[in-house]
Amino acid sequence: MKIMKRVEFESRRKKEEVKFNWKNFFYLSLFVWIFSIGGFFISLFQKIFFEKDISKEIKVEIVKREDWGADESLLFWTKESKVNDRTALVYQKYPEDLKIEKRVLKIDGKNLKVAKEYAVDVKRIVIHHTGTNQDFSKSENVEKYLQDLLKYHTNPNSGEEFTGDIPYHYLIAPDGKIYEGIRGGDKVIGSHVYGANTGSLGISVIGNFNTEEITDDAYKSLKNLIEKKAIEYHIDPRKSQIFLGNEIENLAGHIDYEDFLIDGKKQITDCPGKNLIPKIDKLRKETSGFFDEEEKKSNKMLMFAFLFVVSFGLMLYSREIAIREKSLTKR
Ligand SMILES: [Zn+2]
Repeated sequence: MKIMKRVEFESRRKKEEVKFNWKNFFYLSLFVWIFSIGGFFISLFQKIFFEKDISKEIKVEIVKREDWGADESLLFWTKESKVNDRTALVYQKYPEDLKIEKRVLKIDGKNLKVAKEYAVDVKRIVIHHTGTNQDFSKSENVEKYLQDLLKYHTNPNSGEEFTGDIPYHYLIAPDGKIYEGIRGGDKVIGSHVYGANTGSLGISVIGNFNTEEITDDAYKSLKNLIEKKAIEYHIDPRKSQIFLGNEIENLAGHIDYEDFLIDGKKQITDCPGKNLIPKIDKLRKETSGFFDEEEKKSNKMLMFAFLFVVSFGLMLYSREIAIREKSLTKR
């Protein structure tokens, strides 16, 4: 009997020795808890304040309309402005997608030939080529081309192409120079993708990429411009969206809009050309660095939030046990 008791006592003593120290565990949880609060706010701070600096780093110079010799008088006439017909079925079907912020009929008291409509926001980027086989190695040739393009689209005899201005927001020359297209900024609704122009930023590379290859300079400018605009308007090039009932990549080529059925009509196109189309996926990857970083920051915040909750729970639990044990030993 005596021996038995001794053995029992020994084992109990050993158990006592290796017994978990809940008080220390409480302090450890407290430390992790404070650490997670700090981490969360540091990552939140990084997410909020280091965002704009990246877009400033991307160098994008734009040749303004006045600098490429846009004849602004071509936009106006004395007749009433032609207003976009919004009675089509697609406007009733997708009012949110095609919502406009404002419509401008006059600038400086002069009637625009075609009223300008503004989207609420820029939601996606569409890549085009102009499909033109000319010598664009000299800037004056590019300028002449743009002046003619403006003339064509402001000519009431151009039929469906009478859109009142350049169809695209930006055009890129083989030397990498980026030219301002349509007047009115990024939110003004262009005429580059059939039925799907609202909130679509059109960038066109000058040339025909069914027969030629994009130059390195033009590609670099295209990449920089996409990246800058993607950050500016929070358009993640890696993701897609639902627009007019279709799933479409946030950064797409004109050809990707071929399946869009607008009031029973589809548009057939090979734009931006068979040599440029395969490069769009590469552009998506190369312009999404900012969004990769953002995702990392969000994941970090999530991790700290998770740590916060878990450590807080453990803190309460270990505190409870430590108090109970203390009261037990007191007895
Ligand atoms: Zn196109």
